[in-house]
Amino acid sequence: MSFNALLIAAHGDDFVFGGGGTFSKWNKLSRKTKFTCMAVGDVGSFTASGGELARLRKDEMIKCGDIIGTPSEVWNVHDCEVMYTLELRMKCIEEIRNFGADIVVTTRGYDYNPDCRFAGQLAADACTMAILPNHVMLTPALKKTPILLFKWDNVPHPVPFKADIVVSVDDVIDQLVDAAVAHESMAFGWAAIFNDCYDEVSAMNESEKRNWYATTQIYPYFENIANVHRNELIEKYGPVKGNAVKYAEAFEISKACRMPTEDELAKIFPF
Ligand SMILES: [Zn+2]
Repeated sequence: MSFNALLIAAHGDDFVFGGGGTFSKWNKLSRKTKFTCMAVGDVGSFTASGGELARLRKDEMIKCGDIIGTPSEVWNVHDCEVMYTLELRMKCIEEIRNFGADIVVTTRGYDYNPDCRFAGQLAADACTMAILPNHVMLTPALKKTPILLFKWDNVPHPVPFKADIVVSVDDVIDQLVDAAVAHESMAFGWAAIFNDCYDEVSAMNESEKRNWYATTQIYPYFENIANVHRNELIEKYGPVKGNAVKYAEAFEISKACRMPTEDELAKIFPF
């Protein structure tokens, strides 16, 4: 079964934490994939700013995508300024149509970060409107509404995340670490300062830095998803494999868009 899967999110690291492992697995099956990063990344640093930082972050985003095997595009929207506007929603509709998306993955509209929240709302609404021929009418409408999947989050209100799909990412965890480390200025700049260990991290060599980021940020994140959704993993993989899964990703299926059949789901997630 061939399909095109598009991940739309606000920031570079959302592509690592928001389904990078599953996208890597799809790439290995030769599915067509794309990462669309709405914000340009020009705020999240204590040491750099402006156009210079934005261009660096764009390069890091491309590198991250290359490691996962997915081409990336970054939009010219300032960090902290992703807003729900008609203009941006129309741009999302164009993006979904031009890519011919069968599957759109994005953030739930309840995220704590406003960029992520609005990116999710925009992508989700654009998904429902992708088939309307007389809206954004110069870009041909899709024939079929895409399947809309939300990436995992731990936001409890107003509705907690529901893991309709779980995926073991044990086999691609090293690739996820490499993709995360590609966002060098975020990992060893922002995250290090945020975790109060910038000097310590700066003094490390490359492999020590990678190991620090993997053990403090990446492994715990994907381990937590596996542990929180252990029952779903057991249901999917059986007790032996389900209990053995160390790192996982999870997705919720939006009921606002096309609902996949069980058969379709099994073909989209054959891993
Ligand atoms: Zn984000």
